[in-house]
Amino acid sequence: MKILVINSGSSSLKYQLFFMDKSIVLASGLIERIGESKGNINHKAGEKKISKENEVRDHTAAIKFMIELLCDPEDGVIKDKSEITAIGHRVVHGGEKFKEPTLITEEVSHAIYEHEPLAPLHNPANLTGIVACKSFFGEIPQVAVFDTAFHQTIPPEAFHYAIDNQLYEKHGVRRYGFHGTSHRYVAQHAAEFLEKPIQSLCLITIHLGNGSSIAAIKNGKSIDTSMGMTPLEGIVMGTRSGDIDPGIIFYLERQLKKPLNEIEAILNKQSGLKGLSGTNDMRDLLERKKKGDRKAELAFLIYAYRIKKYIGAYTAALGKLDAIVFTGGIGENSIDIREEVCKEMKVLGIEIDENLNKTESRKERSIHKIESPVAVLVIPTNEELQIARETRSVLEKK
Ligand code: AMP
Repeated sequence: MKILVINSGSSSLKYQLFFMDKSIVLASGLIERIGESKGNINHKAGEKKISKENEVRDHTAAIKFMIELLCDPEDGVIKDKSEITAIGHRVVHGGEKFKEPTLITEEVSHAIYEHEPLAPLHNPANLTGIVACKSFFGEIPQVAVFDTAFHQTIPPEAFHYAIDNQLYEKHGVRRYGFHGTSHRYVAQHAAEFLEKPIQSLCLITIHLGNGSSIAAIKNGKSIDTSMGMTPLEGIVMGTRSGDIDPGIIFYLERQLKKPLNEIEAILNKQSGLKGLSGTNDMRDLLERKKKGDRKAELAFLIYAYRIKKYIGAYTAALGKLDAIVFTGGIGENSIDIREEVCKEMKVLGIEIDENLNKTESRKERSIHKIESPVAVLVIPTNEELQIARETRSVLEKK
């Protein structure tokens, strides 16, 4: 069975074609600068890499380029698009309506459209990809896999904000959480790694990428997560502030005399590591820190401290802790961040092994001391594979 996974952004389209019987990627690609006069098309199939500059007028044109590359008579990995059994789409916001991956019908497309106010940047772009695929793939089943769905098990005491209840009832103001596909994937892989049923485990999964979030997972179900109604809440991110006193927004409005949309842009695009140190890239930040840059040093400490606080809070929420799991570009690769986060955490049963932490690998691994009551794992995430698997599971239920 071959499943195509699509992640459609406002000006980009990412794709991966999976051969599900072996969980392998046949081809993948990234088409960027859609809508501009010079688009970038990067395609990879095995060792073969193709890079082109071409105008990509819109998402429909992007899908057409993708199909041509996948079905190319010389370098293609399939002969015809009809070889694709189904298409799985990443959809950012499913609100309270979508608790599972869902076969896309007219009604589902409409519901994704209706959720646009909750994700004004992402849902319209995701929907554009769905519509463009429909025009080429016709009746091939398309499945929506929602970033928010995994967190729909969070109980009311964790998802409500302490504000007028009507704002929840009429406007849907509550915690939804994001990165659900990644948290679900690494939690499942952590259970397999520990050779224990996920239904018996209490886990904290720590996704540290450009966007970052933490989830508390009890018996395979998300019971709390750090991102909130929007992906702005929680730990420090590349350019997002994470948790701040909401009073700051009104103070800034008065002091800077800027409209709210500009303050929103400051918190989303000029804050986090970038605001603190001048760079949103953790590798750059660590380089600067090594050279004695004080701002980079402080940003590093703030970043790790915030994660520590969440681990403490989620341990209390879970009632027991079996493992913490690092993932995402920073979680998988940064020895320094993992060390700083786990430093002096014996009180929670977390004891990292310095040498194991320093071992570089792309594989799933444990980095705790033998005597550590809590396992510390590094599990590379694979959101695309998870979307492909969830797409297959929807087909199997049909
Ligand atoms: P992601 O959004 O998951 O691709 O993660 C991007 C982040 O991972 C960026 O801040 C990168 O600097 C960071 N990153 C990637 N590789 C490393 C590394 N070897 N050490 C530290 N940070 C890294």
